[in-house]
Order: sequence, then structure tokens, then C-alpha cells
Amino acid sequence: MTKAVNHNVTLGKSGLTVNPIGLGTNAVGGHNLFPNLDEEAGKASVRAALGSGINFLDTAFIYGPGRSEELIGEVLKSYGRRDQIVIATKGAHRFVGEKTVFDNSPAFLRESVEGSLKRLGTDYIDLYYIHFPDEHTPKDEAVGELAKLKQEGKIRAIGVSNFSMEQLREANKDGHVDVFQGEYNLFRRGAEAQLLPYAKENGISFVPYFPLASGLLTGKYGADDKLDESKLRNPLFQGENFKRNVEKVNGLREIAVAQEASIANVVLAWYLTRDAIDAVIPGAKNDKQVAANLQTLDVELTPQQIEQIDFLFRD
Ligand code: NAP
Repeated sequence: MTKAVNHNVTLGKSGLTVNPIGLGTNAVGGHNLFPNLDEEAGKASVRAALGSGINFLDTAFIYGPGRSEELIGEVLKSYGRRDQIVIATKGAHRFVGEKTVFDNSPAFLRESVEGSLKRLGTDYIDLYYIHFPDEHTPKDEAVGELAKLKQEGKIRAIGVSNFSMEQLREANKDGHVDVFQGEYNLFRRGAEAQLLPYAKENGISFVPYFPLASGLLTGKYGADDKLDESKLRNPLFQGENFKRNVEKVNGLREIAVAQEASIANVVLAWYLTRDAIDAVIPGAKNDKQVAANLQTLDVELTPQQIEQIDFLFRD
């Protein structure tokens, strides 16, 4: 059965209610990920999002590092209405000299939550994710510390990201996990085998990251386009693979025309028809992209279109 498009959704069993079109903010102050970012354009994206009804912001300590949270904190301060916004952030990266390691120890997670609260200028975080698994901390112990922070009112919901199926099972031993964030898009559908079914069975929301495959799934690329270095690092944008991928994306044009929507809107709407995917967090480099992605709310795919998209990207 097709899931109806809903303009107000609850993330898993968390009780957090959001607009299903959120905003991913690794390009807001995330200079370590995208050099030459314009911080004012980043803040304008966040302001545009909040001003147009997007209320689910996704950030992380490592974007910047720290700078994305700070810029969001600045926007939140002038915007006010904190209770109407759902902020998700993440932690696990610890700097050891020149190196970065993942740390899920209870003490480090607690320290990380405190740091994020300061940078965001808020006294609670709506959704706190363990960003990446480490090698040594039992995952139920790590999540147990987040459960304590939840009881203390410092966070309101618990997420994990980039965990394997086994790690997610361990993390969710006591049923504390509300949201899982993992890579999932039409080109990367590995989560369909186990993670998505597990999320559905356990009342966990699955938030897909890279939903637009870093822009490739917007339909703005031609097979012969010259790409800049930041795109060429991504295998989806390389050589023959890129040409094949562009061709697949072009297969979505007909549906976009029938829906009077953009290809990005069609792609984002398709994710929202998947079980366990309640909300998406496309990234944006400017306020125009934010506004364009929000128009996904007007798209209602037919069962035939849903099937057609599935088939086009099956392998
Ligand atoms: P994405 O959503 O797949 O792609 C976003 C990029 O696509 C934008 O930066 C922009 O880049 C382009 N774009 C977006 N909307 C567009 C539109 N309407 N028209 C044309 N181009 C458009 O990738 P992402 O931003 O890296 O990922 C989304 C979010 O997931 C992140 O912001 C972050 O919050 C989260 N994330 C989490 C993890 C994790 O480990 N948990 C990892 C990665 C990302 P260009 O203008 O440069 O094309």
C-alpha cells in the first residue's frame, strides 16, 4: 500500500514532530568538508528554511568542526521560537593530536553533548546521534548514557548513525533508539536488505543521508559536463559510471513533468513512500535550493510511478 504524503510526521517513537522535508547543514559552516563556503549564505539557507516551515535541522559537531552548530545557534538566537524547531546533532569524533578517532564512551558522549549545547546556544538537543561507531564501547552502554542524558532533559531523543546491523541491534537492546541515520539514496540502496526492515519492525525512523547523491539526483548534470574536483572524488561522478548514472536520472524526467515538479522533488517524494523513512534532510548551498526542495510536499506519486522509479534504479 502507498504511504500518504503527510506534512507533519513523528520520528519513530520519539514523539518529535517535524515537517518531513528537513535541512541537512553540513554545507553551513562545514569548511572542512566544502572549502570556500560563504557563511552568510549558509545562515541565509537556515533562515530561509525556518521562515518557510522547515523545522528539522540536521547538523553535527564535525561539520566545521563546531562551526555549523555555532552558525545554527546564531540563527536560532535571532529566530526565537526554540520550541518549534527540532535540532538534530551528532558526536563521536575526538581529536588526538593530528588524528581523529571515534569515541562512543559514556564520558566522551556526555562531554560532546555539553559542547554541542554550548555551540548551539540551547539548553536541550532534540535528537542526539552517535555519529559513527567506535571499536571498543559496547553499543548498549553508549546508548545507555544517552538515555541518562534524556532523563536529565539535555536531549529529547536518541539516534545512531553509520552503525552496522549488528551494532544497531546491540544499541537498541533496551529499545532506546528512536532514529537511525544512514546512507541511502536511489544509487545506494544497501539499507533495504536489513536496516530498513529492522527500523520498521522496531519503530525506528530511518533518516537517509546523501538523499540527492550530492546533487546528482537533481537532474542538473549532463553526461559530458566538466566536473569540479569536489564532485570527482565521489565514485558516482566518475567516468563511465557517471554517464550511466546521468542516463538513469534522465529516466525520471517524464515523471517530473507529469508531476509538474523537479527531479529532486520526485526523488525526495519517493523516499517518503518507503517504510520507516518519515523525513529527509537534503543539503543545500543556498536559500533557492532550500525553497526548491520544500516543494516536494506538493508531489504525490502514483503507485505506478513509485514502481517505475524502483525499477529504474534497481541495480
Ligand atoms: P545531498 O543532500 O545528497 O546533496 C546536497 C547537495 O545537492 C547540495 O549541497 C547542493 O550541492 C545540491 N542540491 C541540493 N538541492 C538542490 C536543488 N534543489 N537543485 C540543485 N542542486 C541541489 O548531500 P549532503 O548535503 O551531503 O547530505 C545531506 C545531509 O545529510 C547533510 O547536510 C548532513 O546533514 C547529513 N549527512 C550525514 C552523514 C552522516 O554520517 N550521518 C554523512 C553525510 C551527510 P551543489 O549545489 O554543490 O550541487
